[in-house]
Amino acid sequence: MKDCNCIFCKIANGEIPSATVYEDDEFRAILDLGPASKGHALILPKNHFKDICEADDATAGKLFPLAAKIGAAMKKGLGADGFNVVQNNGSSAGQTVFHLHVHVIPRYEGGPTIVSWDPGKAESDELTKTADLIKAAF
Ligand code: AMP
Ligand code: ZN
Repeated sequence: MKDCNCIFCKIANGEIPSATVYEDDEFRAILDLGPASKGHALILPKNHFKDICEADDATAGKLFPLAAKIGAAMKKGLGADGFNVVQNNGSSAGQTVFHLHVHVIPRYEGGPTIVSWDPGKAESDELTKTADLIKAAF
């Protein structure tokens, strides 16, 4: 299923050209137009899913293995030292394009910090209560 108003549907299905680093029947991986580092790639399913919660398990289950392959190619082909795998769901989480995609961001020793957060503090009873709220919602 495609969404004719979705730019990532058009890119994934080849209607709009892109710098493609990988393609198969179900996915296209392209270079991000606003890269966080040299080689920053996006894995796009060819079918339209708004986010990871909408994707079927078969599609979702292929994203991590593909991210690992692309990350390994970035290390070999670009000399990256590591890579981040990032996936945003919802505008509060930083999602700006509402077609499921996975960022694979090569990292180079001495390069800028790209993905980080300030660790907070939580007592163990608070962690238990929070875990119970999530468990009860499955
Ligand atoms: P997110 O914030 O997780 O939704 O990520 C969207 C990403 O898509 C951003 O990193 C943008 O730079 C990138 N982006 C938006 N439009 C295009 C496009 N036409 N081609 C390639 N990357 C794009
Ligand atoms: Zn789409």
